[in-house]
Amino acid sequence: MSTDPNCIFCKIVAGQIPSRKVYEDDELLVFHDIAPWAPVHLLVIPKQHIATMYDTGPQHAALLGRMTALAPRLMRDLGVANGFRIVVNTGPDGGQEVQHVHMHVMGGPRPWSKG
Ligand code: 5GP
Ligand code: ZN
Repeated sequence: MSTDPNCIFCKIVAGQIPSRKVYEDDELLVFHDIAPWAPVHLLVIPKQHIATMYDTGPQHAALLGRMTALAPRLMRDLGVANGFRIVVNTGPDGGQEVQHVHMHVMGGPRPWSKG
């Protein structure tokens, strides 16, 4: 599996940086964002290091599909039943700060601090 020793999310996958984990399987990890915009703000990431969505292709379709399909299930499990938002920031103009693909899943009662 491809990893980047300097990547903060690879370090979270490796357990070198602690996180509040919500879900984990062979391919995916889900944890709470350290600076949440919404009452529930999760990050869904692949365990393998993929820098941005530009680095994905048809070979990642199943992985990306699994990430998306997890969102409603996890939100419901966390009591978010009134709606949520999925955001994948990509590249400089997309506002991507961490260069490891991640899906923001944000929900819970409004107002939110952002978004
Ligand atoms: P981006 O702007 O790249 O889409 O979002 C990166 C997200 O990662 C931000 O919402 C930020 O709060 C979150 N984040 C950055 N470093 C850490 C960390 O060490 N732990 C956790 N849980 N979240 C982080
Ligand atoms: Zn990484």
